[in-house]
Amino acid sequence: MKQFFVWVSVLVMSLLLCGCENRAPERVQSVDTAMGTVIQQNLYLSQSSANCTGEILELIRELEEDTLSWRLETSEVYRINQAAGSGQGAELSEELSQVMERCLKLTEDSGGAFDVTLGLVARLWDIDSWAAGLRTGEFQAPDEQTLTQALALCGSHRLHPESVTDAESGLKLVLYPEEGAMLDLGAVGKGMALDRILEKLQEDPGVLGGTVSVGGSVLTYGMRPDGTPWRVGIADPDDPSVNLGLLSLEGQWCVSTSGDYERYVESGGMRYHHILNPATGRPADSGLSSVTIAAKDGLLSDALSTACFVLGREKGLELAEQYNVEALFVERDGEIFMTTGMEELFQALP
Ligand code: FAD
Ligand code: MG
Repeated sequence: MKQFFVWVSVLVMSLLLCGCENRAPERVQSVDTAMGTVIQQNLYLSQSSANCTGEILELIRELEEDTLSWRLETSEVYRINQAAGSGQGAELSEELSQVMERCLKLTEDSGGAFDVTLGLVARLWDIDSWAAGLRTGEFQAPDEQTLTQALALCGSHRLHPESVTDAESGLKLVLYPEEGAMLDLGAVGKGMALDRILEKLQEDPGVLGGTVSVGGSVLTYGMRPDGTPWRVGIADPDDPSVNLGLLSLEGQWCVSTSGDYERYVESGGMRYHHILNPATGRPADSGLSSVTIAAKDGLLSDALSTACFVLGREKGLELAEQYNVEALFVERDGEIFMTTGMEELFQALP
């Protein structure tokens, strides 16, 4: 009798273990806020134990606190901006050194349309705070003289980067920003977040696939359990609650959209949005309502969506082709233009 119970127990245990191995992937979904925007996660996991969504959220919050914030004293951007005019160098982390190298190259390749030193001008407009309802009352656009003075203090030539070789982590940058120079990585922050998330997912064998959206930037990763592609909606700039089309994406992609319809303030019949033309210091007016870039990494998709928005359709297309990414442009009259590769990914909705 005793032997019989032992055998039954072994059988039950074996069945349970087999059941675990063949268990269907678990779908985990979450919606949170971080970095002043909405984070939506939709992951398929082979093991339910991992607190994957919580760890990803933590990673995004760390990025804001340790690197991107221009208000928190704990961040690298804050420290760099504090160093401006002091003659003291600000040493960057390995991650930020690489990001800055790429940003400076993008500034060059975009003919200055993309410029992470626009901080002073961006704070003058402060469109993000107006759009978020943090500032109320009558919006006043900065006057021409103030803008001209602020613009004179912007420009990557005022950062004076120097490379140092660190025995442990390799190449690092030290910046010696001039008086008034103010770094603003808002145009690549969400892309940087996607790159960190991608690294985390790649390290976790329990993650089979999923999508993570950080505001206007979306990462797709791995496979959907049913084998169908991931779908990423492209908002209609005239009515962002509706999608004008869908991208069908297999495996790893980073998709970023920059548009004049998300963060803006209206005053005197004018719409002032948050993407600035470094040549004028004013909201970019290139005839576009939005640009979507699909690339293999987040920094590139985010930076290029901003750069192409400022450049307009023709020059934007050239830049997208130079970087070998897919791009979709929505003009103010609603016309859509895209790279040939994007035509294979995009389906318009009726
Ligand atoms: P994108 O097109 O990717 O970027 C636009 C942003 O990039 C602008 O808001 C401006 O900051 C900057 N920018 C504008 N024109 C150019 C240009 N030609 N070239 C390069 N950059 C340009 N982000 C931070 O990084 N640090 C913060 O401390 C921070 N605090 C915030 C506080 C509040 C209350 C809010 C609402 C937002 C904050 N953000 C911060 C987010 C940031 O201000 C932008 O709103 C966000 O990065 C825009 O991302 P996007 O993808 O919509 O636009
Ligand atoms: Mg961007």
